[in-house]
Amino acid sequence: MNANGLAVLASGLRKSYGGVAAVGGIDLRIAAGEVFALLGPNGAGKTTTVEILEGYRERDGGEVAVLGADPQRAGRAWRARIGIVLQLAADAPELTVAEMVGHFAGLYPNPRRPAEVIDLVGLTGKARARIRTLSGGQVRRLDVALGLVGGPELLFLDEPTTGFDPAARHAFWDVIRSLSDGGVTVLLTTHYLDEAAELADRVAVICDGVIVASGRPGDLGGRAAAGAVVGWQDRDGHRKERTPEPTRLVAELAARFGGEVPGLTVTRPTLEDAYLELTGGRQ
Ligand code: ATP
Repeated sequence: MNANGLAVLASGLRKSYGGVAAVGGIDLRIAAGEVFALLGPNGAGKTTTVEILEGYRERDGGEVAVLGADPQRAGRAWRARIGIVLQLAADAPELTVAEMVGHFAGLYPNPRRPAEVIDLVGLTGKARARIRTLSGGQVRRLDVALGLVGGPELLFLDEPTTGFDPAARHAFWDVIRSLSDGGVTVLLTTHYLDEAAELADRVAVICDGVIVASGRPGDLGGRAAAGAVVGWQDRDGHRKERTPEPTRLVAELAARFGGEVPGLTVTRPTLEDAYLELTGGRQ
């Protein structure tokens, strides 16, 4: 990590393509051990930002330190400390899952045990299966295993659960939580707002190359202060009221109905609501 306890520090990060700014001055501070999610519409600048941090693209301006080094100048030893999930598994259809993970483990100075990583992504039952026989979601899980087997301190995950079935997504969230509990820093991009809400300690929303909001998922876009909508059923039909004090309204309703309130619901704006408002509904 950096001397200041930050796994990632970027300030004033800029990158243009042919005079058009893809990233127009981004600041990021990600603490070691944090799960940080970058959200934003298509073309917002997420991949450009992440690839600069990974050392795969050169920036035009700004300062960047990732695990204490400038990714543009860092060498092999630094690269072994970061994990990137690429689409590699499909290139070796005749290898088995265990062979592929074992091969990658051999490329790192301090790898994790291949069997443990295969277990972590839920592929133990497929360890001896050839890659060409795996389903699409299983191949993606194998790619995640390949990003993990080097025992990274910082893991980059770009849209990690696209193509996963719901059970595999939930299992994958557990993997991320256990990595985070073990001190691994995770930077993830996702279009699934529930995934960000579930996993991230903090999120940043990028729009047109700049961060338009950042904070804890529960606070984003003033969500914590936005109040709630209480709904119930009375003789005239369904009623709804927005209130900063939902508990008080529910207590009043309970008194009015003498107990159970028919059709009672209390809803707060979701991260998705805040996101759509921040990005103007752009896709
Ligand atoms: P998505 O959610 O669709 O993956 P993103 O937020 O990752 O989008 P980027 O891929 O970073 O967005 O792209 C940001 C902008 O930069 C887009 O307008 C894109 O067209 C442009 N861009 C990205 N890479 C290049 C490139 N190699 N050459 C020219 N323009 C590029």
